[in-house]
Amino acid sequence: MTSHLIPTYAPPDLVFERGEGVWLYDAKGDAWLDFIAGIAVDCLGHCHPALVKALEDQAHKLWHLSNMFEVPAREELASRYCENSFADLVFFTNSGTEAIEGALKAARKYHAARGNADRIEIVTFQGAFHGRSYGAINAGGNPAYMKGFGPLMEGFTQIAFADEAAAKAAITGNTAAVLIEPVQGEGGLRAAPDEFLRLLRKLCDETGALLIYDEIQCGAGRTGKMFAHEWSGAQPDIMAVAKGVGGGFPLGAWLTTKAVGEHMVVGTHGSTYGGNPLAMAVGIAVWDEIMKPGFLDHVTQMGQLLKQQMAALADTYPDMIEDVRGKGLLCGIKLKEPYVNREVMGLARERGLLSGAAGDNVLRMAPPLIITEEHARKAISVLDEALAAARKKD
Ligand SMILES: *Cc1c(COP(=O)(O)O)cnc(C)c1O
Repeated sequence: MTSHLIPTYAPPDLVFERGEGVWLYDAKGDAWLDFIAGIAVDCLGHCHPALVKALEDQAHKLWHLSNMFEVPAREELASRYCENSFADLVFFTNSGTEAIEGALKAARKYHAARGNADRIEIVTFQGAFHGRSYGAINAGGNPAYMKGFGPLMEGFTQIAFADEAAAKAAITGNTAAVLIEPVQGEGGLRAAPDEFLRLLRKLCDETGALLIYDEIQCGAGRTGKMFAHEWSGAQPDIMAVAKGVGGGFPLGAWLTTKAVGEHMVVGTHGSTYGGNPLAMAVGIAVWDEIMKPGFLDHVTQMGQLLKQQMAALADTYPDMIEDVRGKGLLCGIKLKEPYVNREVMGLARERGLLSGAAGDNVLRMAPPLIITEEHARKAISVLDEALAAARKKD
């Protein structure tokens, strides 16, 4: 059958009909263990009862008003975000890339409002991924994502990830902002050392640059803290979130301090859907589940278990696995050539385990945060079989 979809994706020949918790089911009732969770989005698994209820209740009341009118739930969710983070102000979006756009605009506006309209330079890191809109692809700096789409945007400088000397050289009085994922997602699950984030904070303080975190993938509890940067204690001036904060409903946001956000006055920015009542209802339910006592400790424990078991696999397959990567439940293995992440991912899928690929030949796991020890052991045993099968093929 001819597809009428723009061919930007090449999914496998597999159709899921429903999901429940950590499992996906096809029409025949066959089950897959979902360790990629819509790319770190379905943080509470599929069809979590609290999210289903929140969405259903709201669906009977009010779907959409736009930002022409107040939606009290916006204040409610924003106050949850602000009471538990560095932030004073929140702008809601529908996706990650929009959150990044807002963050970049707010950073430049901050300097412009202080009489430095030409202070536009954004420092980013190799291996970064910030989304697919124009600003985001220029920030991500991946040539494959920019080619053919017209001239590059001015004002982006990219340096090596977690390179202290490069950061010291690049962050100057011309820098508007430094943008970093505390744990790189698409780029290969590299976690920035805590000392590196603290150094960035210090360099930004010294030069007056703003520090922006992209916590779209690593936030929402995924590393065992609500936001990944909390492990370092180095707070940002602006932070983009999406993916997990909506638990499967399209929701993102950028959060910032009063000093930055107060310049984004009426008319400077907007969104028709941002902060939509349905998204707010689900966002509040997601937040409250993650904040339940013991939830984040559970994530940390499961992350440690997975990491230990991946390290054991690395001992079993020293010729295939170079490294265990990531933090918490955003983790994976970097494969050695000639083994290819996508091939192992396919072999695991044939055996009932869904995982993902990331840059740098990394096989990525981002399961729902509600996995149990049993799920983790099952995933590792399937991965073990997939690695054995890949080696045999070779
Ligand atoms: C997914 C992702 C984005 C883009 O989010 P979209 O919702 O796809 O626009 C940006 N940054 C990071 C770190 C991501 O993982």
